[in-house]
Amino acid sequence: MNRTIDNWIDGAMAAPESGAYLDNVNPKTGEVCGKIARSGPQDVARAIAAAEAAPRLSVADRSDLLMAVADAVSERIPEFAAAEAEDSGKTLAATTKGDIPRALDNLRYFAAAIRTDQTACHQMEDGLNYTLRQPLGTVATITPWNFPLHLFTWKIGPAIAMGNAVVAKPSEMTPSTATLFAEAFSGVGAPRGLLNVVHGLGAEAGEPLVTDPRIKAVSFTGGTATGKRIASQAAPLLKKISLELGGKNPSLVFADCDMEKAAAGVARAAFFNTGQVCLCGSRLLVEASIHDEFVSALKRQVESGDWTPGTSMGSLISFEHREKVASYVDLARQEGGTVVFGGNKVGAEKSAFFEPTLITGLPIDCRTATEEIFGPVVTVHPFTGEEDALQMANAVEYGLASSIWTQDITRAHRLAARIESGMVWINTWNKRDFRVPFGGMKQSGVGREGGRYAMEFFSQDRNICIQL
Ligand code: NAD
Repeated sequence: MNRTIDNWIDGAMAAPESGAYLDNVNPKTGEVCGKIARSGPQDVARAIAAAEAAPRLSVADRSDLLMAVADAVSERIPEFAAAEAEDSGKTLAATTKGDIPRALDNLRYFAAAIRTDQTACHQMEDGLNYTLRQPLGTVATITPWNFPLHLFTWKIGPAIAMGNAVVAKPSEMTPSTATLFAEAFSGVGAPRGLLNVVHGLGAEAGEPLVTDPRIKAVSFTGGTATGKRIASQAAPLLKKISLELGGKNPSLVFADCDMEKAAAGVARAAFFNTGQVCLCGSRLLVEASIHDEFVSALKRQVESGDWTPGTSMGSLISFEHREKVASYVDLARQEGGTVVFGGNKVGAEKSAFFEPTLITGLPIDCRTATEEIFGPVVTVHPFTGEEDALQMANAVEYGLASSIWTQDITRAHRLAARIESGMVWINTWNKRDFRVPFGGMKQSGVGREGGRYAMEFFSQDRNICIQL
């Protein structure tokens, strides 16, 4: 489809002031499928002014609005799913059954949660304190391309539920569903300016948002280098920031695991969304005694057809990103690795499909095993004993997620407490509950999203004390 994706400002479609557009490329074909507004500081300033002028709503009205837009979009899932699949290279099945419904669940969760949100009252002998939980004002959300609408609603849901107005900057690689969503939001009665969407490049449309003093908080998901730049720009302004960044996550597989279930789970952790998940298990640590057997079980998983580029697995986000992923496979060979399966580009010359890839024989501290590749590439490393596994698991600068595969549940708890990652899954991967804290340690981020954590981020608690 040939679509022009404009900004959404003050309740209406808005072309960029400069008149400039970027190409939107379908990564499955390499063909241009539309144009994206290339916004700059003037567009951002207009969006912030609209947000500042937007009326503030009651809790009940915010909740109703979020529910209404979730219902409205759920009537249009095929349209949203098709746009998401075209922008991102995902399969239509994935966006229809996964991404879009999940994005709507985010909204329904926060629409319900705000209705039961509570603050505390603290009694003293001769005094009484109560807490006012108030919105921050106008906030910014900046999101990546790997789960475009899901991560967009994961942030704007709690931001709006808590009474803020939002200026959102989606990824320039996957702009379509954010504008479609903003239009639908106005369609169910959202006041003008409550949600604004500004498209464009990070340096041109993202930075002016981060540095504008009217933006009271920045919720960012993306790469670690970008997160550091945002942190350095927000710090002098003493702005609230939440940074969800990169990962190089270990899957720890012990000899006593349920082999077939673990192989299926580890394959999902490695190849889901073509390996483009911050939580992806891209470092596979396997107890030495089952190394070969487990590698064979993984190979069977891939041969079963669940991870076939073009049918059951989508493409990477872009031709350029495929070149980067392929360069890591070349690097792995130079670093002494053996490609057990995969390792190849597939599909049309300018498309972005890449095979699920497994590499053995690499040192645990080499670049391929420590840098975020963000593709369907997993490296396998044998360990001997729990301490060895733990040391290898923690030997990277990232600390987002990990999974442990064992029947010894006591050991699993012991390890879970000592692994340096914000999230640990035991005999599963990426099992998500809206209420739990989501976020990373070390270079994987600052702050927590999810449930009350996101609601606290997008609000401020104030204490009122009365002399009795
Ligand atoms: P990216 O950092 O390049 O871009 C993310 C967003 O930031 C985009 O909208 C981009 O336009 C914007 N941006 C870029 N430079 C900016 C700047 N100077 N100021 C303001 N905004 C700027 O990341 P990406 O390539 O879109 O996404 C992939 C990365 O995201 C991976 O590292 C992945 O691990 C990470 N990620 C993390 C999580 C998490 O929850 N921890 C979830 C998904 C993705």
